[in-house]
Amino acid sequence: MHRFFVAPELLTDPGLAPDAGLAPARGATTFSSQEQAGDVVAHTGGAGSNLVPLPKEIAHQVRDVLRLNVGEHLILLDNSGDEVVAAVARSSKAGVEVHLLERRPGKREPGVRIVLCQGLLKSARFEWVLEKGTELGVSVFAPILCRRSMAGLEDAGPSKQQRWQRIIQEAAEQSGRSRLPELLPIRPLMHALNDIPPGTLAIMPWEEEHNRTLYDVLNSAASITRVGGGEVLSGEGTLASPSAEVLSGEGDASVPSAVESPTHPSPTVVLFIGPEGGLMAEEVALAQRHGVQVVSLGARILRAETAALAAVASVMYEYESVF
Ligand code: SAM
Repeated sequence: MHRFFVAPELLTDPGLAPDAGLAPARGATTFSSQEQAGDVVAHTGGAGSNLVPLPKEIAHQVRDVLRLNVGEHLILLDNSGDEVVAAVARSSKAGVEVHLLERRPGKREPGVRIVLCQGLLKSARFEWVLEKGTELGVSVFAPILCRRSMAGLEDAGPSKQQRWQRIIQEAAEQSGRSRLPELLPIRPLMHALNDIPPGTLAIMPWEEEHNRTLYDVLNSAASITRVGGGEVLSGEGTLASPSAEVLSGEGDASVPSAVESPTHPSPTVVLFIGPEGGLMAEEVALAQRHGVQVVSLGARILRAETAALAAVASVMYEYESVF
């Protein structure tokens, strides 16, 4: 079913007070009777029928691009994580109205909260990370300025930010997500390091790290987190949070588990990926002083955008066993 993010005020829950939310949302079209001549009208009632006019841009998509007929279903999203199933009630040159049929929880949001701190890249490469990262399940994109970040990238004006938001929204709609990944303002690496939530698993792939791999860190962290999640571990009982004795043979004491934070029920993993020019040794040392785990992604030097998606996919593999 086609999915569209819309302004939350357009989607009041069906079954709420009949006329709640039936007021046309801002920017939505309202129809005069004379515009309806010759139009296909199937809706069955006015106030209280959860009939809402679609914003112009989406109405154009539904009517002229997707050519959805009256009665056909689509999904509207208000970024709450829910999906609202709607049916085309009326479609005309003047606009498209839909019936809100049902609100239900979205099923495709990731079970791990990935915060991707990406060293700012040339625009096309960064946009690629936004699109593919959204498909793979990133929850927060945090573009960071590193020592070797190319000059001029930081002044990404409002039009660029809007374009990045649109890329994220289209990728979220296409991949079936019901929440839009956040896009944070561009910040220096140091600020992003200071913002790592306490106890979070933070990982920095570095092209000059040759001992410890992403697998090593994820494997130990995920096994701790799984245990931390209250599952019984081979008869050793339920554990509120990982402790030394849990780690006997399971995982590595220096790897913090990706703990749930009060605001986010799922574990959080923060990934730091360098820019085109790579990360400098002092940046890596600074990150280590902030408890970041430095890892190798293998012997080959990956382009920054490849490294970002390889790391995201690996975290999803470990925490969601999605592949
Ligand atoms: N010059 C290339 C480019 O234009 O993309 C490489 C840039 S550099 C290697 C990009 C970042 O990707 C690094 O700072 C690191 O975070 C990550 N990376 C790439 N290959 C890696 C590897 N084999 N192990 C760990 N990190 C890697």
